[in-house]
Amino acid sequence: MYFSGAPGLLKLFMPSGLVWQIPTKDKSLYLTFDDGPVPGVTEEVLSVLKDFDAKATFFCVGDNVQKYPEIYKKILEAGHSTGNHTFHHLNGWKTSDEEYFEDVKQCAELVDSKLFRPPYGRITRSQAGYLSKKYKIIMWSALGGDFDPKVSAEKCIENILKSAREGSIIVLHDNQKSAQTMLRVLPQVLKYYSDKGFQFLPL
Ligand SMILES: [Zn+2]
Repeated sequence: MYFSGAPGLLKLFMPSGLVWQIPTKDKSLYLTFDDGPVPGVTEEVLSVLKDFDAKATFFCVGDNVQKYPEIYKKILEAGHSTGNHTFHHLNGWKTSDEEYFEDVKQCAELVDSKLFRPPYGRITRSQAGYLSKKYKIIMWSALGGDFDPKVSAEKCIENILKSAREGSIIVLHDNQKSAQTMLRVLPQVLKYYSDKGFQFLPL
């Protein structure tokens, strides 16, 4: 289960100190891409972002950075931010603290960043408490559902447009499973908000 908008109820049950939204009145939006770098997908995202002169943040899986270092380098060279998304894409609710922190550390050897996003948005209080000493833990305020095969591109766009406003953090996925939907959604979201005078910034 997931929530497309600012997940008020979900937030009540989540550890405090997580970042869900950037406090600003400026017409700024923060696009984030989870799970890459993935060949054929991440490069496509970089190309679309470039067309709109947009910057984003890529929460990378360490294992993928190790496999595809040249794509990771392209992300940085294009002026985007990167963040830690663990090495093995672990679910914090099902992982001991010790194992979770070791996996984050392994990812940090490849991803030099003060940003962290827990895979599946699942992190325990003790994991968040410990990691927040070192990282800004970035959640989201607009989730389209590009990873869900039951959600069409149109519905995904609708979900994002319904919840994104000044300072929103939008989540998309540059993985194989989401690519088909995500690559239809991305240019439309960029066009819609660019036309309204928004700029897309890295975290
Ligand atoms: Zn993920």
